[in-house]
Amino acid sequence: MDFAIPDTLAPTLDALRRFVDQRVMPVEQQVRAEGFAAAEAELREMREQARAEGLWLPQLPKDEGGMGLSVLEHGLVSEVLGRSLLGHYALNCQAPDAGNMELLIEFGTEAQHEQFLRPLLEGRVRSCFAMTEPEHAGSNPVWMSTRARRDGDQWVIDGHKWFCSSADGAAFAIVMAVTEPDGAPHERASMILVPTDTPGFTRVRNISVMGDEGEGWMSHSELRLEGVRVPAENLLGGSGRGFALAQARLGPGRIHHCMRWIGLCERAFDEMATRAVTRKLSPDQRLGDTQTVQHWIAESRAEIDATRLLVLNAAWQIDEVGVKAAREAISLIKFHAAGVLLRVVDRAIQCHGALGVSDDTVLSWIYRHERGARIYDGPDEVHKTVVARRILRRYGTVKR
Ligand SMILES: Cc1cc2nc3c(=O)[nH]c(=O)nc-3n(C[C@H](O)[C@H](O)[C@H](O)COP(=O)(O)OP(=O)(O)OC[C@H]3O[C@@H](n4cnc5c(N)ncnc54)[C@H](O)[C@@H]3O)c2cc1C
Repeated sequence: MDFAIPDTLAPTLDALRRFVDQRVMPVEQQVRAEGFAAAEAELREMREQARAEGLWLPQLPKDEGGMGLSVLEHGLVSEVLGRSLLGHYALNCQAPDAGNMELLIEFGTEAQHEQFLRPLLEGRVRSCFAMTEPEHAGSNPVWMSTRARRDGDQWVIDGHKWFCSSADGAAFAIVMAVTEPDGAPHERASMILVPTDTPGFTRVRNISVMGDEGEGWMSHSELRLEGVRVPAENLLGGSGRGFALAQARLGPGRIHHCMRWIGLCERAFDEMATRAVTRKLSPDQRLGDTQTVQHWIAESRAEIDATRLLVLNAAWQIDEVGVKAAREAISLIKFHAAGVLLRVVDRAIQCHGALGVSDDTVLSWIYRHERGARIYDGPDEVHKTVVARRILRRYGTVKR
């Protein structure tokens, strides 16, 4: 393992730091104050500038218009971008589009590339991923009611989905639906590309998350699909292959999220340390003079630095041996990094007192948007079970 920053990447990271500080942070300020839709023009200009400067699709190979970075290098980029909740959006490597791009590149047909992938790569449209259903436990993804049946040369889809991130304003959804009801549990569902303007596709609402419905890319929607008809060729990667595709989608995506969380941790840490040395408890005592706050600083520093190494190690394993063989490392970082993020942000909020829960600093915004980190892409408990079972199997058999 060599985690030294490659010479070729150092100038890119410098350019990205400047871009995030000078170009993304002011737009973030506007989005926080006025919402995503009101800042649409500034967001578009920010993305155009990123693309013009060659800071575009860092997660993709050069022949797809990307920056051709390894998973480890993209991890390092993700930390820099992650300081702002809009950093990844600026470079068109944001969830859920980044994962959907990967799926389309790897499993899409030429026609699907033309219709769905190209506009996504160019940043002309956005997409969403619709798998979770309110009626079923999302942590058991093989259990779903959404059905797609063949009728001549079309799929007819009926179902109810929710927490579809960024569905508001998305041009299409990748919908998980059962197409092989008699198949083995992991071979029943398929992914189908559904333009959001197809009759029968309804975005019911943006779900209020901790008091914030959000809008546009920064929202999570409930969807209804009623008799939605799409051409048979909108099937992605074969009937019954949905779970195999979903597994492939989540490896690099977890590195992206975990390193993004490290970026957010560093930002919260800066806010906490700055407050600790400036807020006075009395004329001759500052918050940072108390042992409690000193311990928050030390514990946070240790947790952030250790987590960075853990995540980079998982990224390195993906580069070296692939997603499947790196599964244990990927599950390990998912629950660990999410926990560290929320602990560091919580300490930073506590350190700010009432100011910390107000919207006058960025901390409550981060907390609101990231409390879900311990739930989405698999709740903590599921990942802990994956890790523990694999470890215990090396010592003997384990009951399923
Ligand atoms: C911010 C956010 C964005 C999301 N974006 C998307 C998206 O774009 N597309 C999409 O399809 N879905 C999305 N989701 C949904 C997400 O994938 C599900 O919430 C997740 O899979 C958990 O499913 P659930 O909410 O039904 O919880 P449940 O499955 O009902 O589980 C509830 C709780 O039970 C515990 N639990 C679950 N399984 C076990 C177990 N085996 N052992 C012990 N404890 C367990 C966990 O603590 C879990 O939080 C998003 C969710 C959030 C919060």
